[in-house]
Amino acid sequence: MPAKAFVSADMEGTAGVNGWPETQPGHHFYPRAQSLMIAEVNAAVSGLIAAGVGEILINDSHDGMRNLSPEEIHPAADVLLGSPKRYSMAEGAKGSDLALFTGYHAAAGMPGTLAHTMTLHLVEVRLNGRPASETLWHAGLLGLWGVPVGMVSGDDVLGAHIAAILPWAVFVTVKRAVSLTAARSLSPERARAAIRAGAEEAVRRRDAGALSLLRVEGPYRVEVVFTEQDRAARALACPRSIGVDPYTVAYPADDFEEAYLAMRTLTQLGAS
Ligand SMILES: [Zn+2]
Repeated sequence: MPAKAFVSADMEGTAGVNGWPETQPGHHFYPRAQSLMIAEVNAAVSGLIAAGVGEILINDSHDGMRNLSPEEIHPAADVLLGSPKRYSMAEGAKGSDLALFTGYHAAAGMPGTLAHTMTLHLVEVRLNGRPASETLWHAGLLGLWGVPVGMVSGDDVLGAHIAAILPWAVFVTVKRAVSLTAARSLSPERARAAIRAGAEEAVRRRDAGALSLLRVEGPYRVEVVFTEQDRAARALACPRSIGVDPYTVAYPADDFEEAYLAMRTLTQLGAS
């Protein structure tokens, strides 16, 4: 059984969450989304513990990364709170035997609920001409570090994407996308039961040698299409970046980690 497991916890793919305001700390709907997110994370931790995992780190991976109230998190897990973190949603995963992603969502440009990639100020992030989701970027980092992703939870659009890029992983569908800001959701109770069972199944697959590492093949050309021209203009402050058109900035990287860090730099410059 895996000695150490890593859980990366986002919010937009949580059952019962379907609007932007409730994902933003300070909004009056936020505490409800926060509670739903925490309960799904705890369900994943319960599944890992039931499967015999000894050490669990949860990385808060949403917004300012201060959503997981420590006193409400399962006492068996450590929690990594706050930002900035060089590896963002993957921070802390090095040395783990297994990773789970909860509350994840489809990429910008996909028809998923609350679909986006890193910020809300861009139309699409691409790697080698294809839409590159937050899942792909962070599972790719974990692949470099030898950590397999065994379970992901989110909506059905993310599920189709996961089947394509991480076919060995358990996918837990907690809601069905109706539009960008509407979803038909499982009840929180059923979503948590499915996530708990999914986490246990991920450990079984890992123990059976059925999980693989995501290896993203080169070349590593990043492209970010921004919503406004001035955002693309700001992103061009990144060394080695190339203006493709008034909305699109490219970065040719030598390896996947450089591509990841370039993607972070471009998206943050464009969001500023
Ligand atoms: Zn998020």
